[in-house]
Amino acid sequence: MDRIQGSRCPRCLRVLAPPARFCPDHPVAMEPVELHGYGDVISFTTLHSPPEGFRSPLHIALVELPAGARIFCHGSETKLLRVGRRVAVEAVDQVFYFSHLGLADRARLFWRRAGDRGERVTAMAKSVVKRLFRGPKDETTEAP
Ligand SMILES: [Zn+2]
Repeated sequence: MDRIQGSRCPRCLRVLAPPARFCPDHPVAMEPVELHGYGDVISFTTLHSPPEGFRSPLHIALVELPAGARIFCHGSETKLLRVGRRVAVEAVDQVFYFSHLGLADRARLFWRRAGDRGERVTAMAKSVVKRLFRGPKDETTEAP
């Protein structure tokens, strides 16, 4: 399972993802940490007027990682989401994506390109749409 890059405050131990240089609570430099690529759904919603370059509807979820960081994730759909449900989280260029654990264990297309408006998609989204997202793997059978 993928790791998520984050940062931790050495003073209050607050964890953020994506990483920040300074703790939002203190003027203290944060230290880089690697976080597990899963978390629990805090809330979720669907945007029907998503940002430029993304096809509607855009499904997003607020996910809390085990270390406590809360991140917004994009996903392919939200109909199977429930508050408290554990999902896999993957980061691509500091954009986070959730996928369902236990259902899809095979590769799946996790992102849908915004039709023929691709040239207007930002550089960030361009790198995202090129990628096929892996489903979460059974960790006991994961190859080294
Ligand atoms: Zn702090």
